[in-house]
Amino acid sequence: MDDFTYHAPATVAEALALRAEGGGAARYLAGGSDLLLAMQRAEPPVARVIDLKGIAALREIRVAADGGVALGAAVTMAAIERHAHLLAHYPALVAAAAAVGGPPIRNRATVGGNVCNASPAADTSPVLLALGARAVIAGGGGERELPLAELWSGPGRLTLLDGELLTAVRLPALPPRTGCGFQRLTRAAMDIALVSAAAVCTLDRGDRITAAACALGAVAPTVLAVAGLGAALAGSRADAGTLARVEHLAAAAARPIDDHRASAAYRREMAGVMARRAMAEACDRARATSGGAA
Ligand SMILES: Cc1cc2nc3c(=O)[nH]c(=O)nc-3n(C[C@H](O)[C@H](O)[C@H](O)COP(=O)(O)OP(=O)(O)OC[C@H]3O[C@@H](n4cnc5c(N)ncnc54)[C@H](O)[C@@H]3O)c2cc1C
Repeated sequence: MDDFTYHAPATVAEALALRAEGGGAARYLAGGSDLLLAMQRAEPPVARVIDLKGIAALREIRVAADGGVALGAAVTMAAIERHAHLLAHYPALVAAAAAVGGPPIRNRATVGGNVCNASPAADTSPVLLALGARAVIAGGGGERELPLAELWSGPGRLTLLDGELLTAVRLPALPPRTGCGFQRLTRAAMDIALVSAAAVCTLDRGDRITAAACALGAVAPTVLAVAGLGAALAGSRADAGTLARVEHLAAAAARPIDDHRASAAYRREMAGVMARRAMAEACDRARATSGGAA
């Protein structure tokens, strides 16, 4: 790794200015658990590192009056794991955060870093996508927001403009009788996901599905939403037949590759299985809630 200068701004505006000044050789650093490895092979070499963890606003988890949440980009996985509102209302996000590495990694790894590293296997990304999260972005032109799906353009690639910074991930408030689920398949403990799936479902008083979403990890160049799933399930009971449809739709949506971890065929089949299990978990949680989401 080449020499680099280290900067610790106290505000987003300072971070943006440091990044603009450093140009293409500058990088934002959150927990560093992906960046430090990437720096060993970065071309051109990284000459300036801008540490975001000193920016207090980026470490906040803000709960809105309606129950929606803004997760600061530098919020760690460990902070997500122990947050009471997230545990009560977004347990699938807590499960995904808890699946990242071991405790030392989770004390450093941030949600913004997980999302901005743009790995298709990133654990929090399918849950955030299924929940309908939005990315809050700061840049030279001010602040803008976009659906999370529009942030990723390929493995390790973002649609952020040069120098832009993710400041928060905004989770919408969930309607009553909404549940979420997360399932992940790995070869060994603390391994990166072979396949992962997240699901969200809302039930009416008669236990019929009024809204549903599912997202898959590690089966396409980016984390992937299962298109058309909400419309296909609307009005259905959350029964075995409906869950079989989820399995079929998810397997059909997957676009996996063969690699040293698993064959594409196995990944496709497991994408269906993980999606079915995640949706079953989401529906069970939705049934168990009388008011707010879980
Ligand atoms: C031993 C080990 C085990 C791991 N296990 C898992 C696992 O099980 N599941 C999993 O999903 N990941 C895993 N990872 C990967 C990594 O820990 C996660 O992706 C983590 O969330 C990255 O967050 P970070 O804060 O460390 O990001 P950093 O490494 O600081 O940054 C990652 C990238 O995002 C950019 N970036 C960071 N924050 C911002 C921002 N706010 N705006 C714009 N760009 C930004 C950085 O410039 C860099 O390019 C593992 C890593 C290690 C080393």
